Amino acid sequence: MSNYNWCHGPECHTQHTQSRVRGSGDNKVLRTRRIKVYQPETPHIYDFFCNQSCLMDFMREHITSVIAIAPRREAQETPIKVEKEKYESYRYDWNSDENGATRRVPYMATRTTIKSVDNDNG
Ligand SMILES: [Zn+2]
Repeated sequence: MSNYNWCHGPECHTQHTQSRVRGSGDNKVLRTRRIKVYQPETPHIYDFFCNQSCLMDFMREHITSVIAIAPRREAQETPIKVEKEKYESYRYDWNSDENGATRRVPYMATRTTIKSVDNDNG
């Protein structure tokens, strides 16, 4: 059995595209797009919106309700460790000599790496 959703974009049925034209003669309409759902058990956001424009139109119109489902009242934090290590790198000296040649100039650079911390045992 095929499963379909109507696009939830509030302006979907007003977009002038051939894919939305239905009816015949003088009784033509622009109709909301229908979306085929391939895996109803694992819903995807584009099972409900025919494109990003319809998704964002919906979000703009319903953002207050959507946020109310799972409001964030405090910042979240992830424990990390920041490691800095020095390594030799090069910069380019563009006008290093009178022939216009560039020159690689070595210098000590710092690489900053953000590491995850195993916080399952804390
Ligand atoms: Zn749409």
